Amino acid sequence: MKGVQHMKWWGWGLDGISFHHEDKPKFAPFVRERVGIDVTTPAARPPLRFEELDVPEPRLDDDLRSTLAGLVGEEYVTTDAMERVVHTFGKSVRDLIRIRRGELGRMPDVVVYPDSTDEVARVVDAVVAADAVLIPFGGGSNIAGSLEVPRGETRTVVSVDLGRMNKLLEIDEESGLALIQAGALGPHLEEQLQQRGWTIGHFPDSFSHSTLGGWIATRSSGMQSDRYGDIADITRGLTMAMPGKVLTLRPLPSSSTGPSVREMVLGSEGRLGVITEAWVNVKRVAEERVVLGYFFPDFATGLEALREIHKSDATPLVGRVSDERETQFSLATSKKSKGISKYVTKGLMAYLTRKGWDLQKLCLSFIGFEGSRSHVALQQRLVREIVTRHGGIVVGKGPGVLYDQKKFDTPYLRDFLLDRGAAADVSDTAAPWSKLKPLYDNVIAAAEGAFAEIGCQGYIMCHLSHNYHSGACLYFTFAVAHEGPGVIEKYDVVKRAIQSEFIRSGGTLSHHHGVGVEHSPWLAEDVSPAGQELIGGLLDFADPKHNLNPGKIV
Ligand code: FAD
Repeated sequence: MKGVQHMKWWGWGLDGISFHHEDKPKFAPFVRERVGIDVTTPAARPPLRFEELDVPEPRLDDDLRSTLAGLVGEEYVTTDAMERVVHTFGKSVRDLIRIRRGELGRMPDVVVYPDSTDEVARVVDAVVAADAVLIPFGGGSNIAGSLEVPRGETRTVVSVDLGRMNKLLEIDEESGLALIQAGALGPHLEEQLQQRGWTIGHFPDSFSHSTLGGWIATRSSGMQSDRYGDIADITRGLTMAMPGKVLTLRPLPSSSTGPSVREMVLGSEGRLGVITEAWVNVKRVAEERVVLGYFFPDFATGLEALREIHKSDATPLVGRVSDERETQFSLATSKKSKGISKYVTKGLMAYLTRKGWDLQKLCLSFIGFEGSRSHVALQQRLVREIVTRHGGIVVGKGPGVLYDQKKFDTPYLRDFLLDRGAAADVSDTAAPWSKLKPLYDNVIAAAEGAFAEIGCQGYIMCHLSHNYHSGACLYFTFAVAHEGPGVIEKYDVVKRAIQSEFIRSGGTLSHHHGVGVEHSPWLAEDVSPAGQELIGGLLDFADPKHNLNPGKIV
């Protein structure tokens, strides 16, 4: 649709941008050794060409089509094949594998682009009156199966794309609140705020291709959540079109009016209605922002230091530490160091070896600071003291600058690996500090067991990514080589092993990727059967005929 940006139908990001390994000399040997595939050969498993896809005819009767066109305008209702394909899935590895093979399944029949809360409300009512299915669409970046149409759905499926609703509507400067339309993509939203000196501070890795409405509907978390909060903290009020009514929550700093309605909408994945705009906390763009790199001698020490930093008077913007596996991966994806930096790196490694560090256990950490110059300086000093006390060292700004530059590029790596025979995905959890390290050990063991069970070489790595008073988020990335048939089934064995271990070891099934269909098997274990019943009751009450994104969450 003109004026609305979508990702490639078969992968991450925009056409023409992809991952390259040629400038990273250690990458190919690393992947060969750890995952068992040769990435130097040309893509052996590229996606089908679009013309090869067998896109079924849309099931849309003339009455509903003309009703929708009457509500939003003829040019904003489309049954174009590319449009329908783009709106079929999110970007989980399962989604990518299916779409690249042309396994579209039941897909949206029509896509509509409303332009206001009023239009959305009328579309919701029209779809429910026609007993069709409505699926809200933001950026299509979810990785929990939150968009897919249930197999066997016989009703007409309407994808409601919020892409035209992308404006910053108002800033309450005295309160630090902004009213923004739900279809705004991260960069567009941030650009509009920054032009006026404000920021939302919410930067998920998927920032470039996800929307405010999608963040709220999946309970997203950005890499700067230690300072700005998760989207659940940032979102203070909202408007949501529901069947026959419009929910309006005024922006409030806090409230004690019964169970939180705001919290009911957060994470609702389109099952309660379509979020059309939201009031969010915004802050003044900081005077200074610095991300520094640190090394720890091992992961347990890094976790303990991060815990202490979070309890200290320092209030970092971001605090993350990679395990030794992810550190080795990061070093392998670095560009070839040249000139003086080559000698600095060599010298540093020699120094650490002399100090008695086992370089195989080295763990890379990034800690970021933001605020006035004096506050940033104070925080850096406090953190340096804690890091040093734990035997770690400050590496300086270089790795932090690189991390900041590369942070939105990593998603392109998945398509590159899929082309060459490896499926890579992520699973994230949060657990109390006391359970974090045992959970980590158990998950690594469970994944290794699953690789052995399916007889495929695989690799799993982890970093701590978000810190809280009582615990933290652990973010696992894994890759499995896939030869022959049954790749999704094999991937499922690994994914199941990891998710089950999260619950068994005292973590949640997902820290920031929502439930969708991929995580729903563990919901009752996560929130207890009584909790699952409460969620089910809420969804059934709001949408008795399951017209709104059916099959997700419960
Ligand atoms: P979509 O994928 O379009 O939709 C997600 C769900 O929300 C669907 O159920 C949809 O129906 C519903 N929905 C969308 N808009 C609305 C609306 N306006 N009203 C009601 N329901 C709506 N997530 C993080 O939190 N942090 C990360 O760092 C992060 N990194 C990622 C990296 C990669 C490579 C990928 C592929 C994903 C990542 N994600 C991350 C997951 C994803 O980006 C988030 O789930 C994001 O919040 C989805 O937003 P979206 O706009 O793309 O929503």
